[in-house]
Formats: sequence, structure tokens, C-alpha cells
Amino acid sequence: MSTVFLDWAAPQSCAAGAVFPVFMPFMGCPGRCIFCAQDAQTGGAEASLTQRLAVARAALARRADRGLPPVELAFYGGTFTALPAPAQEACLAFAAEAMRAGQAVAFRCSTRPDCLSAAKVRALRESGCGCIELGIQSFADAALDLARRGYGQAVAITACELVRAGGLRLGVQLLPGMPGVDRAVFLQDVQTALSVGANMLRFYPCLVLEGTALAEQWRAGRFAPWDLPVTLDALAEGWLLAHAGGVPVIRMGLAPEASLADAVLAGPVHPALGARVLARALLLAVRRACAQYAPGKPLRGLEIPHRCQGHFWGAGGELRSAWAGLGITQERLSCGQEGQIRLIW
Ligand code: SF4
Repeated sequence: MSTVFLDWAAPQSCAAGAVFPVFMPFMGCPGRCIFCAQDAQTGGAEASLTQRLAVARAALARRADRGLPPVELAFYGGTFTALPAPAQEACLAFAAEAMRAGQAVAFRCSTRPDCLSAAKVRALRESGCGCIELGIQSFADAALDLARRGYGQAVAITACELVRAGGLRLGVQLLPGMPGVDRAVFLQDVQTALSVGANMLRFYPCLVLEGTALAEQWRAGRFAPWDLPVTLDALAEGWLLAHAGGVPVIRMGLAPEASLADAVLAGPVHPALGARVLARALLLAVRRACAQYAPGKPLRGLEIPHRCQGHFWGAGGELRSAWAGLGITQERLSCGQEGQIRLIW
């Protein structure tokens, strides 16, 4: 009998507490990117910033009344560092008040790479910001051009470096399947994100959303999103790269808002997208280990961490035949130590 262990440690959470989002759709954005429909993604597009902060303030107070621990505030959905000064001051004042009251320990924000400078990073850190999530989408010049982002790879990389050099954690959001991003480009984007020091990644497979310029391209037959099988396989490979680099992928796929479901015209949507990707990543890792250590020899047993049990066979058992091809049936599967996979021949 021979045995091989694979590292399968659970990704470390990068948040200072439960992440408490305050969505600010399109606020501060210099234009509308071709794929973006933040109003559909976050719901409640009409509310003003003042109303949003008031709702968040009341929700934080309710959390505190229930004895819940402090959160990490998150200003999402727009370009935080390009907000008009009064709006940014209102957000910073709200965050400071929540931190003074012990309701929050820090805040994070999302922004565009071309709206950042060393001075802005420093000012954010001094205000209690611990993390900046950059809407990178892709590092590839051709993809950035097609999305009319108005800057190129050098600006995206410099922005990542500014965040890390400023002592903040860096989140990188990628948009696999956007125009100009095929599987190879996406995997290169993941590698680049890791090489510039990303502390966490998000994979948002590109969807065609009503009201976007991309929807017009799709209607004209000039753009086709990835289908689900391509997306699942590419994300599984990207997830494995991130895992090998010790970097968690904290989100895969957009959050399932009702307004989003109404707006999706085409693209790889599935309610269990993340679990399906994890299942494929595990299969891919074991398949690669089999090819490396015992080519052609079926496994006699496989031990996986408990936390993998729920997604191991894939949605509706879709991976059972692939596992059978490696020798793994229900009888040969067991749970072992957390943090590792054990392959037995
Ligand atoms: S992708 Fe980001 S910068 Fe572009 S419109 Fe959407 S929120 Fe604004």
C-alpha cells in the first residue's frame, strides 16, 4: 500500500470581523463599464447615500443590542476613492462613529485601480481602513481595452503595489469570461494577482446583464459568455492556483439578488457555483496526483476533510463517474484529518 498526502487546508478568512456591506451602486464611478449593472447586483438602486448610511447605522445598533461582535464595514459597489469629497467624508465619519462605538473594528472599500494613489492609500489607512478591494477584472491590456476601462495593465499592477506598500490587505476581483479573457488569460490573471501580493481573490464569471453595453454586443452576436462547464473548469484551475499560493478565493459568482436574476440575459449562473467549483478543484488535484504518483493505477481509498463531504460528488452527483474512473466509489471514501487529503493505492 502506498500513500500520498495533499495539503487541503481551509483558506484563512481575511476579514477583521463579519463583513458588513454598505452598497453604493455606481457612486464615484467615472463611467459605466460595459459589463456592469451594480444597481441590479446590489438592489435598491434609488436610495441616497444618506439613506444607505442611516439604514446601516440602525442595523449596526441592532447587532450591538443583540450582543453580536463588531464587524468589518465594507463600502462596496462603486469607486470609493473617487467619491465626491462630501460623500467620502460622510462614509469616513460613519465608519469612525461605528468604530468609536465598538460596533466595527475596521472598514474596507472597493475601488478602481486608476483612482488610487499613495496619498489616498495612506489617508484611508489612517481612517481605519484595513483592506482595499480592487476591481481589476483582468490585467490583460486587450481585455481592459475591450471593456473601455481607460487604463492598461501597468496601472492595474501599480495600484496593487500601492495597496500592499501602504500596509493594507489587497483584494483582487477578477471577471473571467469578460471580452478578451479566455481560460489562459484568466489563469494568467490569477498568477499576476498572486505575484503582486493579493491577500484574497474574488472570481465573478462575466454575465450579460440587462442595461449594459455588453448586452447590446450580445444581442448583436458580437459577444458570447462562457458556458457553465467551461466556467466551472476554469474556476477550478484558478482556485487551485490560489490555493497553492495560500490565498483564499472569498467569493465565486455574484450574490443571488432577486433583481440580479431578473437582469441576467446570459452567462454562467448557478446557485451552487462555488461548491461546484470546489468539487472540481478537489477532483482535479487528486487526478493530477494520481497521474504524478501512480499513473493508470486506481485508488484503493481516499480520505478527505469533513468540510468537503457536502460538495465532494458535485451537484446531483455529477462527478460520480469521474471519481469512479479514479477508482473512488462511496465505499472507498472516508473522512480523515482536516487540512489534508490522503490518497491510498
Ligand atoms: S465595474 Fe466598478 S468602476 Fe465600472 S461601473 Fe461598475 S462599479 Fe463602477
